[in-house]
Amino acid sequence: MGLVAGKVAMVTGAAAGIGRSTALLFAAEGAKVVVSDIDDKGGEETAAMIRASGGEAIFVRADVSKAKDIAALAAAATKAYGRLDCACNNAGIEGKITPFHEQPESNFDAIMAVNAKGVFLCLKAEIALMRKNGGGAIVNLSSVAGLIGFPGLSPYVASKHAVIGMTRNAALEHGKDGIRVNAICPGGIETRMLDSLADQASGGKLSTHDMMDPLHPIGRIGKPQEVAELIVWLCSDRAAFVTGAAVPVDGGYTAQ
Ligand code: NAD
Repeated sequence: MGLVAGKVAMVTGAAAGIGRSTALLFAAEGAKVVVSDIDDKGGEETAAMIRASGGEAIFVRADVSKAKDIAALAAAATKAYGRLDCACNNAGIEGKITPFHEQPESNFDAIMAVNAKGVFLCLKAEIALMRKNGGGAIVNLSSVAGLIGFPGLSPYVASKHAVIGMTRNAALEHGKDGIRVNAICPGGIETRMLDSLADQASGGKLSTHDMMDPLHPIGRIGKPQEVAELIVWLCSDRAAFVTGAAVPVDGGYTAQ
């Protein structure tokens, strides 16, 4: 039996990176998966990968920063599978590395709209669905940037601190509804987002590994699958007493 056998799981930003690995692992551990993203091609591909390995999945296009899209996503999930047990609010963007005093207002607004408001809108919709079936478990993607600062990334850092605040509040308000809500805080993970940050930080001079591996006490950056393992465990009944937590999965980054 899989860790989440018989459950229905939803993953935003599941066309690539950590979201795709999480969707695939939910399916491998027995869940039916609602794959969502703004990238139709990548999202359809993730759902097809699940079906090709014998699982059940649908793709639903949704921009997490738009309330209308999230309402339609919740409706599509209910129509397809009738309930929601697990959700991973993963969609996120990083923006441009810029000193604080030069940060364009548009950069702040764009990042907060996806990373903070997106999690807010998804939490609202998911909690409403989970209350109908007597409970569930939600994991929000924060970051090591939700725990400490990173020069040049002030809107991203603000958005990821906001995710931890919302996680705590949702956990406090809905524990008695049987809903657990946790945040996870990855360090550098091998995805497009980290390539973009490494490229910006080194001015294109260093590869992601050369730039980021030495910053982690474990000696390397992480793999999307290593983050997915924590997410799916937190969504499983094995984590029944874990809620309101912000759990690092960072190769020791924040232990320094
Ligand atoms: P990624 O860029 O590979 O994937 C992000 C996915 O989100 C993409 O498929 C993209 O299309 C989707 N997306 C972007 N905007 C969206 C929107 N408005 N609505 C719906 N989907 C949208 O990035 P990743 O590294 O896999 O990041 C996933 C999450 O993990 C993000 O929240 C990120 O901040 C967080 N994170 C990543 C790292 C890292 O090192 N990669 C570290 C800490 C936290």
